[in-house]
Amino acid sequence: MEKRIYNFAAGPAILPEEVLLEAQKELYSYKGSGMSIMEMSHRGKIFDSIIKEADADLRKLLNISDNYSILFLQGGATLQFSMVPLNLMLPANKADYIVTGTWSKKAVKEAKRVGSVNIVASTENENFVRIPNQNELKLDSTAAYVHFTSNNTVYGTEWKTEPEVGNVPLVCDASSDFLHKKIDIDKYALVYAGAQKNIGPAGVVVVIIRKDMLERSSDSLHTYMNYKIHADNGSMYNTPTTFGIYIAGLVFKWLLNMGGLDKMYERNLYKAKLLYDYIDSTNGFYKGTVQRDSRSLMNVTFRLPNEELEKKIIAEAESKGFSGLKGHRSVGGLRASIYNAFPVKGVEDFVEFLKDFKSKN
Ligand SMILES: *Cc1c(COP(=O)(O)O)cnc(C)c1O
Repeated sequence: MEKRIYNFAAGPAILPEEVLLEAQKELYSYKGSGMSIMEMSHRGKIFDSIIKEADADLRKLLNISDNYSILFLQGGATLQFSMVPLNLMLPANKADYIVTGTWSKKAVKEAKRVGSVNIVASTENENFVRIPNQNELKLDSTAAYVHFTSNNTVYGTEWKTEPEVGNVPLVCDASSDFLHKKIDIDKYALVYAGAQKNIGPAGVVVVIIRKDMLERSSDSLHTYMNYKIHADNGSMYNTPTTFGIYIAGLVFKWLLNMGGLDKMYERNLYKAKLLYDYIDSTNGFYKGTVQRDSRSLMNVTFRLPNEELEKKIIAEAESKGFSGLKGHRSVGGLRASIYNAFPVKGVEDFVEFLKDFKSKN
C-alpha cells in the first residue's frame, strides 16, 4: 500500500486510517448489496440503518438523552451561523455572542441580520490570544441565547469549560473540537459541528438540539432553514449527504472502539502536552502564539524567530512527510492540527523533527 503522510491540515483534515480502509472495502458493493452507499436511496433499508446507527452511536459517545434531537444537515457550520439566529432568536429578538476569533465574528455577522447582538466579551484587541474569563462576560439574562465557539481553529485557543450562563440557552459552535472529549450535553441548548475537522468529510454538519428549542422555529421560515422540519423528518426532509453521514458513522464506531471519549481525551492531552512541552523547552526558538491557559488541544499554533526560518521549516517538513503546517495568514507561523485521528506516533516523530531542525539552525 502507498505510504500515508502526517497530515496536520486544519480542515478538511485527517481521518482514522481504520475508517478509510473500511470505507474502501465497502465502497464498491456495500455489504453484498451490489452498490455503493453513494448510489442507493436515502429512503431504503440500508441507509435507514446507517443513519439510525450513527444517531445511536453519537448518543452513546456523549450520553445524549431523548430530550435532544440529532440532525445531520448540510451547508457546513457556516449555514448554522444563520440557522441559529433565524430559529432561536425569537422571542427576545436579541442574543449574546462571545467573540474569540474569526469564526465567532462570522457567526455575529449573520446574527445581526436577524436581530440585535450583544457582544458579551471579545479578545479581538489582543489578537485573540486568549479565552475571556467568566468575570469578563457581560451577559444579558434576558437574551434569547448565548453563542460561543469552543475551539478557535485559526488562533489555537480553546475553552477548558463552557461559560456559565445561568438559565439562558447555551449554543456552541464546536466544529473544530467536537468529540475530542466528553462534554455535559445537558448544559447546552444546541451544539453544532461541521464534520471536516474531527468527524468526517466536508458536507455534513451535526446539530444536537434540545427538543424544547424546536418550538421556537417559526412556520414562516424557509423550509430548509427550519430545525423543526428537519427534526420531524429525521434529517430526511430532503436528500441528506448520505456518504458523509456514513463516514461520520464509521468515525463514531472508531471512537467507541478506541474506548470512548474519556480515552480519546487522555490521548489528546498526551499528544498536545508532548508538543507544547517541547516548544516551551526551547528558550523561545519555538514560541507558542497564545496564552498558556487558553491553549487548544486541537490546533497548536507557534512561531520561529523569523519568517525566513518559518518558510524554511515548512518546506523541510513537507519534504519529510509532515504536511499542512502553514499557519493561517492572520496569525502567521505554523499551525499543527492534531485532531482525534492524528496518531501519537506522528506527534512524537514531529517533535524529533523540530529538535533536529533547531539544532541545525
Ligand atoms: C471550519 C470552521 C467553521 C466553518 O465551517 P464550514 O464547514 O466551512 O462552514 C466554522 N466554525 C469553526 C469553529 C470552524 O473551525
